[in-house]
Amino acid sequence: MNSRIAVAMFLFASLSLAPVRMGVIADEASLLGYSAESSRAERQWEEKLRAIPNPENLRAYMERLAAHPHHVGSKYDKENAEWIAAKFKEFGLDTHIEQFDVLFPTPKERAVELVEGGPKFAAKLQEPALQQDPTSSQQSEQLPTYNAYSIDGEVTAPLVYVNYGIPEDYERLERMGVSAKGKIVIARYYHSWRGIKPKVAAEHGAVGCLIFSDPHEDGFVQGETFPAGAWRPKDGVQRGSVADMPFYPGDPLTPGVGATKNATRLKIEEAATITKIPVLPISYADAQPLLAALTGRVAPEDWRGGLGLTYRIGPGPAKVHLKVKSNWEIKPAYDVIAKIAGSTLPDEWVIRGNHHDGWVNGAEDPISGLDAVLEEGRAFGELLKQGWKPKRTIILCAWDGEEPGLLGSTEWAEEHADELRAHAVAYINSDTNGRGYLDIEGSHTLEKFTNEVSRDIIDPETKLSAWKRNQLHQIQEAKSAERRQEIRQRGDLRIGALGSGSDFTAFLQHDGVASLNIGFGGEDGGGIYHSIYDDFYWYTHFSDTDFVYGRALAQAGGSLVMRLADADLLPFEFGDFSDTVQTYVKELKALSQKMRDDIIERNREIEEGVFSATNDPKTPLVPPAVESVPGHLNFAPLDDAVDALARSSAEYHKAFEHANAQGGSALASTSLADVNRLLIESERKLTTAEGLPNRPWFKHQIYAPGFYTGYAVKTIPAVREAIELKQWKQADAAIVVVARVLQDEAALVSSAATKLSAAK
Ligand SMILES: [Zn+2]
Repeated sequence: MNSRIAVAMFLFASLSLAPVRMGVIADEASLLGYSAESSRAERQWEEKLRAIPNPENLRAYMERLAAHPHHVGSKYDKENAEWIAAKFKEFGLDTHIEQFDVLFPTPKERAVELVEGGPKFAAKLQEPALQQDPTSSQQSEQLPTYNAYSIDGEVTAPLVYVNYGIPEDYERLERMGVSAKGKIVIARYYHSWRGIKPKVAAEHGAVGCLIFSDPHEDGFVQGETFPAGAWRPKDGVQRGSVADMPFYPGDPLTPGVGATKNATRLKIEEAATITKIPVLPISYADAQPLLAALTGRVAPEDWRGGLGLTYRIGPGPAKVHLKVKSNWEIKPAYDVIAKIAGSTLPDEWVIRGNHHDGWVNGAEDPISGLDAVLEEGRAFGELLKQGWKPKRTIILCAWDGEEPGLLGSTEWAEEHADELRAHAVAYINSDTNGRGYLDIEGSHTLEKFTNEVSRDIIDPETKLSAWKRNQLHQIQEAKSAERRQEIRQRGDLRIGALGSGSDFTAFLQHDGVASLNIGFGGEDGGGIYHSIYDDFYWYTHFSDTDFVYGRALAQAGGSLVMRLADADLLPFEFGDFSDTVQTYVKELKALSQKMRDDIIERNREIEEGVFSATNDPKTPLVPPAVESVPGHLNFAPLDDAVDALARSSAEYHKAFEHANAQGGSALASTSLADVNRLLIESERKLTTAEGLPNRPWFKHQIYAPGFYTGYAVKTIPAVREAIELKQWKQADAAIVVVARVLQDEAALVSSAATKLSAAK
């Protein structure tokens, strides 16, 4: 072990109340959930594991897998799946390909034309090949630029600029007296997941939607553009799905069940996740003439992007003709599944995955992440030959069809839902990888565990542990003295919660499997996302060019999987979880108070005449309407539940401490099966069969993607979203539901504590 890490661990033990470290006489603290003896053995195996991943292999895998476009349904996608399966077999893993049949629309006709209000102009809708970049010329294999699951349609209407096209932008438009009704909206990418933009536009009566990549977000305002630099060139387009995934992800025709050959399917017109209006993505070269043809009010300052023109709202006089037509076909998705059977606990599964399909050549997204899973598979294969026997079953997965809608992972997790609910310990996902900081997000019952593992991962640039580098980075980024103090003293760095946007979604949100998402980043900015330029040339010039962060990701993913698979007692912990839930409840209280205060203040200002007195008659604003002041929400059930959770997590903490006494001999016993069973259940308990109000596919009551944000998480979503939407009655009802879920969780943790105390 690196001495720097040993020092960090000592600080950790003395600052946090980490009982597992106490009473251990050995020079090294025992790992969470390991007796002193099994901890020593585990550390030796892990050191061997972390020595195996090799940057040269990672480079070679990427060069092979990103050599041609490999979207779901393409020839190379199938060849890649077969190649990945062959690799896993070569490594000695029991491997098969599981096929699902999914709806995947591809472009048939696309048009965006300026027909009135400016010089006639037809958008190019095409990314040019670049001489330096060898795979950019594979045009016959590339998917054209489009947004998958846009409904077919042809409309001609005045254009209106809606900034990011999120709900608050429409509130602002309303005050400016501008309506999107009957218009085609043009929105810029970012500040929400893209599928939110056509959804909100349709809710406001728009008939079409264009989404463009403004240079302000990922083009020349950020840095030199490709191929001179990493950022988006003028003709670069972000493809992507616009299916309503916050409603349900996966195949639009088979919600809740696996899209197997004989599955019952909805008709296309019954699929609720296909957009209501046609939508196309465009480059900033294509957006410029359209924006330049808008007149009317000048856009508010924070709506102005990086193009050299005065951003105006319209509507019109620019009139746009938009046409979208797709081939609506069922395509095969090939999930590659590789297994290592557990030696003593084969019915407890540790699952690791990354998708293999890309929008085009997809070197960064997804191969930079898949690379690590492959090297982890090779490392596990080597160690098996050397005599390593994981207690639990390990399953490595390479998913297909992630890009259009998390298709491969969702269908697999739906098809195997009963088995997953019975057997899955945790799911560990990655998607892309770059240079910088190790970001781990996910279930807070694993927060302490992820902190422990990231102390054993060496950052390639600084040679600090990934944990230490993160801590120092967080101190630099902290906005307050309190926050800095917490980072220095809490012991565990907080991990973010998961919303959606990658393959963990079905595991966490639908099946209630504790999940993590991992990847390095922060020093690897660029603007090639979902374009033909996300390829081997770009990655090896502008990202983790020597693949040392790819190696670090394989070391992190491999260590997380191995440590979960070998533990005597699963390293779940509830103090960090309870603490986190408490902060969520505090946020909810502050949010509802603020919304109430804002309504009261605005009503007062309306009465005082603030809005009429400050209205400039030349650029008038519509005054806001008086709103009724809501009563106070009753948070008592949630407060009680948070108290119960704090009590039971303290009980578990004490039992854990007891089990670790005398070198953790209690952990070496075989009486832990019932405790492990409960620990596996602990994330399931956070779900309800009914799911979230109005979106029953999403069962988790603590984490969900926002209905109006897409990828970004909403914690305690039923309550938070009701407050945000000013549905006060629903908020009160949701508080009762979530409180019951947390009380059940507290009872489970308490029962685990009792059983653990009894372990001999
Ligand atoms: Zn991806």
